[in-house]
Formats: sequence, structure tokens, C-alpha cells
Amino acid sequence: MSKKIMILPGDGIGPEIVEQAVAVLKTADEKFGLGLEFSEGLIGGASIDAHGEPLTDAELKKAGECDAVLLGAVGGPKWDKLDRAIRPEKGLLKIRSGLGLYANLRPAILYPQLADASSLKPEVVSGLDILIVRELTGGIYFGEPRGIRTLENGEKQGFNTYVYKESEIERIARTAFEAAQKRGGKLCSVDKANVLEVTVLWREVLDRLAPEYPDVELSHMYVDNAAMQLVRAPKQFDVMVTGNMFGDILSDAAAMLTGSIGMLPSASLNESGFGLYEPCHGSAPDIAGQGIANPLATILSAAMMLRYSLDMGDVADAIEAAVSKVLDQGLRTADIYTEGCKKVSTAE
Ligand code: ATP
Ligand code: MG
Repeated sequence: MSKKIMILPGDGIGPEIVEQAVAVLKTADEKFGLGLEFSEGLIGGASIDAHGEPLTDAELKKAGECDAVLLGAVGGPKWDKLDRAIRPEKGLLKIRSGLGLYANLRPAILYPQLADASSLKPEVVSGLDILIVRELTGGIYFGEPRGIRTLENGEKQGFNTYVYKESEIERIARTAFEAAQKRGGKLCSVDKANVLEVTVLWREVLDRLAPEYPDVELSHMYVDNAAMQLVRAPKQFDVMVTGNMFGDILSDAAAMLTGSIGMLPSASLNESGFGLYEPCHGSAPDIAGQGIANPLATILSAAMMLRYSLDMGDVADAIEAAVSKVLDQGLRTADIYTEGCKKVSTAE
């Protein structure tokens, strides 16, 4: 049975790094006979230039009919002056909400070969391997009512609403429990249950589900402490699960522990296991077109795609091992280069 993958290269370094990830997928396909089928589409500035909008309904529909999407990055100075409603980034929001991609998975792994590239002490970060599971389509980023209103005394007041339904908490919690089962068996749920009622409910739902996953050890942590612990002793964590806003902040912090934005993949999944896979970094307009961008975050995103959406975990393992081997050989793009290594281009 063939698996359909839609490729959305996007803007900036997007096309350069996606090209290399597709080359890796095609090699794996030839070697293991995976039956992968590729189609390509437009998103972001590339779509604005062609169609006047960052993602057309036709392209969204096509993406939904595939088994997974591999995306490069969107945006760049060329489109910065456009009206907010048709900025490249809107294409990303449209595909996330249009396909119900509520679970954002961001691993933060420090490759031992790159220990020198991290700014943290080796004993704090060496061997770091954590997974942050962030709820992506709810919480305070989407809650209503929201806005800026003028009070009776003429003063303005900004307001947002932090809401989660039990069903929304339950589905992201299950994603996290299942991920913990496949990894080290530890899950830390992050909330602010001492202050925010919505996260009291969050904690209750996690506790209610825990007996269904006896092989996972569940703990809870307040978000302020979690931020501190991530920097102080990040290796205590295996899988972390949290809401949209806390996840946004903590996953960026965790990413920087590894010191190399060009190495970090991500997955955004919906209920049926369909996923959008993309590097954590942006379109890097400052280095676009030079052939020096690091393609490994995108290649590792392709590996996540094989693992989480296409049920080809062994092939994902093989790709991750290949990445590690390339690092063993001392091959480095400029962003992770240190003395004594061999500097290589994106394509190399
Ligand atoms: P966005 O808003 O899309 O997240 P950004 O401006 O916040 O974009 P990036 O586009 O990720 O951030 O770029 C941040 C810095 O990291 C830039 O200097 C860029 O050149 C560098 N960078 C990002 N991705 C890579 C990569 N794959 N290889 C090398 N350098 C990269
Ligand atoms: Mg950014």
C-alpha cells in the first residue's frame, strides 16, 4: 500500500532543506521498498506570489488527503509589509487549524558529537533527550472572548480567555502518555494549578487517565518551577505535556539547551495520526540561497513522519542513526561547525 506525502517547501531556506530531506526519503524508499509517493504544493510567500494568499483551499484539501505533510519554512522580508491577514505565517495557522493538528511534539536532543556547540555545562546537558508535547489548537491562544476594550473611565483593558474542555485535555494527554510509553516511561504534566482553575481541571484529567497507563510514571509541576528545572537539571525529564502557551515558551527554552536550532525537528498531529512535520527553525532569510543551511532538522522531521504517521519506526531509527553517523564523521554545516571538523554545504 502506498503512502502519500505532500511536500510544502515554502520560503527562504525551505526549498533547499526540504530537497535534501526528500532525497533521504527517496533513498530510504529505494532501500526498504516503502512505497512512498510525493506531491508538491505551495505555502507561505511562494503561495502569495502565485495565488495572492498564503494557502489556498485547494492546497489545504490536497494536504488533508495525503498521509503526511513535510514542510520547510515560511516567511521572509519580501512579504513583511503585507496586511496581517495575508502574511505567509497565516498559511501555517490555516493548515494547523484546518487539519485539526492539536498535538505538537518537539524533541530536544543533544547529540554528544555537538556537546561543544551548547553553551551549557556538559554535565547539565550531555545525553539530553526530552520530548515536549504541546497542545496546539486551544487554550489562551484561541479562547473567547478576547480583545482590547475601553473601560468607563476611558482606560483601555486587554483581555484573553484561558479555556480548555475536558475532551481537549484528554486527547493531548493520551498523545503524551502514549509517547512516554514508547520512550522512557516518565511523563511530567506542567500547569499552574495553584492559581488557574483551567489547569486544576487539566491536572484532574491527567490523574484520571493515569491508571490506564500503568507503565508510565506521571508527575505534576508548576510552570514556573518547570522553567527553572529545565535550565537547572533538564535531564530529569523524559516527556513533558502542557497547554498551548506554556508549551510555546518551554519548548523554545528546551530547544536552546541543545544549542543548535538547525538540528531540531517537530511534528503536529491530529486525531487520526495524520501529521505535519517541519523543522523548529524559521525560513532564515539571512542565509537563504547560499547552500549553507543545516538540513538535519528537516531530515529528522522526515524521520518523525515515518515514525508517527507512517508506522515505519525502524526506518526512522535508520535515518536517525545515519544523522548520528554523519556527525561522527565530523561533517558540519556552518551553524554547528567547531574547530577540527569539516565544513560542508547543505547538499553535501
Ligand atoms: P521565524 O519567525 O520563522 O521563526 P526567525 O527569524 O525567528 O524565524 P529563524 O528563521 O529560525 O528565526 O532564524 C534564526 C537564526 O537561525 C538566523 O540567523 C538563521 O540564519 C539561523 N538558522 C535558522 N535555521 C537554520 C538552519 N537550518 N541552518 C543554519 N542556520 C539556521
Ligand atoms: Mg522565530
